[in-house]
Amino acid sequence: MIEIGFTTFAAVCLGVCLALVGLFSWISRSSHEKRERRARQHHAVCRLCLAVFEADGRLGTHRCPHCGGSTGNEGPTPLG
Ligand SMILES: [Zn+2]
Repeated sequence: MIEIGFTTFAAVCLGVCLALVGLFSWISRSSHEKRERRARQHHAVCRLCLAVFEADGRLGTHRCPHCGGSTGNEGPTPLG
């Protein structure tokens, strides 16, 4: 049987707990980023009024519900 002191046992328990917290934090953060990235794929930005609206990803162009302008999924392009 392995004999360890209470201090060593407590340090190992603390290390395991910290590792678990880090692991769950990383899992939560990566799933949140994945969910956010997936949600952003369904959004389009109007080139004229810069309004963000939900768009169907299967279509190439969308009609802005605010100004009626036609825009694609790529978002606004820089003017200069
Ligand atoms: Zn617009």
